Amino acid sequence: MNNIIDTEKYLNALDLSDFKWINPKDIVVSQWVRVKCEFGCSDYGLGTCPPNTPSVKECSDFFKEYSRALVIRLNKVADRNNYPSNWSRDMTNKLLKLERHVFLQGHPKAFLLNQTCCCLCKDCSGDRLSCKDKKNSRPSPEAFAVDVYQTVKNCGLEITVVKENPGEMNRIAILLIE
Ligand code: SF4
Repeated sequence: MNNIIDTEKYLNALDLSDFKWINPKDIVVSQWVRVKCEFGCSDYGLGTCPPNTPSVKECSDFFKEYSRALVIRLNKVADRNNYPSNWSRDMTNKLLKLERHVFLQGHPKAFLLNQTCCCLCKDCSGDRLSCKDKKNSRPSPEAFAVDVYQTVKNCGLEITVVKENPGEMNRIAILLIE
């Protein structure tokens, strides 16, 4: 309980105040998400994206090893022709700080699924072995075959498809905790 209060204080201090605690059993993992990574996503092949991630079955098994998770929603008005990369990098750094904080509270399994595909470097190496920042690169929920829309709706948060450009986008991170 104390760790939950401490984590929530830390989230608020990082200005990550839009979050929900969920049971990882409520994270929906689906094959169609992997297919959409493989066909139609321009990030396919980046260092933390398929095919550099576990199989859908392995992802599903991975979530079963956790008893708690935080779904964190980030909102940003963005232009798809001028993606706010600096904002995204700042958010990633905050989320990595949060993962580290929770780890140091005595949760060695703490693991972050980041709010975007890894964009820590300007030129991604495109595989795990030659990744230029192995310590900080994390996959997105989608790269782990998470049906983000259904999962977010299951936990009572709103999420919408961006219909206009520029428009407000919802970016979703998930922190897994034991
Ligand atoms: S840290 Fe750099 S090389 Fe590694 S996955 Fe991220 S962008 Fe690619």
